[in-house]
Amino acid sequence: MTAHTHGDGHQHPHPRQPDVEDRPLTYHMALTAAVAELLVAKGVVTADELRRTVEDIDSRHPGDGARVVARAWMDTAFKARLLEDVNDAAAELGIDCGGIPIRAVENTRRLHNLVVCTLCSCYPRMLIGLPPDWYKARAYRSRAVREPRAVLREFGVTLPDDVELVVHDSTADMRYLVVPARPDGTDGWSEEALAAIVTRDCMIGTALPRSDAPRSGGG
Ligand code: FE
Repeated sequence: MTAHTHGDGHQHPHPRQPDVEDRPLTYHMALTAAVAELLVAKGVVTADELRRTVEDIDSRHPGDGARVVARAWMDTAFKARLLEDVNDAAAELGIDCGGIPIRAVENTRRLHNLVVCTLCSCYPRMLIGLPPDWYKARAYRSRAVREPRAVLREFGVTLPDDVELVVHDSTADMRYLVVPARPDGTDGWSEEALAAIVTRDCMIGTALPRSDAPRSGGG
């Protein structure tokens, strides 16, 4: 704890809040800053355009992907278009995925899909937001391909032996969206209620949607 004096003269302790500036920049942080500065200096992009792009990426969230999955559950023709081309199908719902190809992989009673980026952190950010920290961790990146069933068990997903497990390794040129199977007990649900049980992890393949999950929105 540190203490400092406020305008009213009294002193009280504050928890120490580390600043990013307290640590030296890593190589890639410095490289990023240098490239951004150059792009602006050379007039390739303006600082405002850069800011707006980052703001756009930061504003993306799993709710968009969940809407896409829920629509696919409701509408088989939409699901066919989604499996054909995620970017085009998402655009039908007003979601701009930014043009990087995303492939939808569908879970069935016989097949489960799991997504990883073994190299770094490639992820369909424009559709489901920023990846969780564990997705970028070395343990997940290496173990998801080596012992995927054990990894899934740690996430609380135990796959029956007769379910085939396919692990998809993302790249900068190809991201993946898991389309989970619609759980039993959801007949007659609204699209909104269905979307509410499609969590981020369901779309990575480390969780399964549950009809008994606590959910917001009417059923
Ligand atoms: Fe990557």
